[in-house]
Amino acid sequence: MKRLCYLYLIFSFSLAFTQETYLHCGRLIDSKSGKVLSQMTIVVDSNQIVKVSKGYIEANPSSKTIDLKSKTVMPGLIDMHVHIEGESNPHSYIEPFTLNEADIAFRAVNYAKTTLLAGFTTIRDLGGTGVNTSIRKAIDKGIVDGPRVYSAGKSIATTGGHADPTNGWKQDLMGDPGPDQGVINSIGEARKAVRQRYKNGADVIKITATGGVLSVAKSSSNPQFTIEEIKAICSTANDYGMHVAAHAHGDEGMRRAIIGGVKTIEHGTMMSEATMELMIKKNVYLVPTITAGKAVSENALIPNYYPEIVVPKALEVGPKIQSTFGKAYKKGVKIAFGTDAGVFTHGLNNKEFEYMVEAGMPAMEAIQSATITNANILENNKIGHIKVGNFADIIAVDGNPLKDIKVMSKVSFVMKNGVIYKK
Ligand SMILES: [Zn+2]
Repeated sequence: MKRLCYLYLIFSFSLAFTQETYLHCGRLIDSKSGKVLSQMTIVVDSNQIVKVSKGYIEANPSSKTIDLKSKTVMPGLIDMHVHIEGESNPHSYIEPFTLNEADIAFRAVNYAKTTLLAGFTTIRDLGGTGVNTSIRKAIDKGIVDGPRVYSAGKSIATTGGHADPTNGWKQDLMGDPGPDQGVINSIGEARKAVRQRYKNGADVIKITATGGVLSVAKSSSNPQFTIEEIKAICSTANDYGMHVAAHAHGDEGMRRAIIGGVKTIEHGTMMSEATMELMIKKNVYLVPTITAGKAVSENALIPNYYPEIVVPKALEVGPKIQSTFGKAYKKGVKIAFGTDAGVFTHGLNNKEFEYMVEAGMPAMEAIQSATITNANILENNKIGHIKVGNFADIIAVDGNPLKDIKVMSKVSFVMKNGVIYKK
């Protein structure tokens, strides 16, 4: 009898301390069906969604209720292209000589929090020093606040290619970076670079399939890998459970990347109709990064903001990204939301929605690309959709984004893994 009493006490004690949260949602976006449900209740218990019901259900006395009746509620957003370690500024090019990893890390902590408060509960970080992988661990352990991170560690380039870390340096400093630093020149080195990233704790692999805008090098768009090198990278990455993202502006490098087996093409600036068709056939996604395109073309007009060699590339490539995105979307290329935040100010990621809609994508599809589509690419079926059993990654915006996409920048509620970060 005594024992039973004890059990009863323990049971009621634990009941009193499992405090559920009831979210009363005026509008709720179902990212799977693409429908807007009105007057819904989501019940969250610890880090999980335990109930999604019609109407405003009254919470039991030990639970709390959050009133989101005037808002549009949706799954936490996912940005597939972020650089959490840095943010463009006129001194960016001197930073490798002035900042220690610890300096980069402290800065990244702020950017991660800003990104989370903008409604992005998950990001894919496509290239940094390795701090991007460490911050993932710190966020997962609850040491610092930030989104879920899928980290590529250091990007993989070829000698002199976009993301060769010593591009533009004087020759006695340049050295000869290899696979560990993210520079490969053969099939063997390609495999080694991928395996090294796996060993360093990366979740995905990033390659720079063509020249780029911000590197201190002449071409923004020449192909920089052989198909064989890309195939070696992709097959090795797949062996280790990782997919490959390819930065690409020029058409030939893009074509090689798609044939080589990458999952996403970043930017896609000069994509031809034939390459769009190849994207569709091979089930490869375009990550548009329109916001970054606009930012580099604006910054290029500020005197001395970028090195001289970068300016004409920024002015050529930047403005083309949005129109190529519009054409690719209309043609039927699958779109994965991603911004390249870091090339512009962190926390402005939501601007991308406006630019996507401006280029012809319906608002609901843009939101789906930032939720369920990206969750599928990341092979994480616990995020990107508000349903029972999923992680409680839930945000709300003021107003109705289907009527005015600009309200995607008015994120007034952020919950990640059941914890409220903004209310
Ligand atoms: Zn990038």
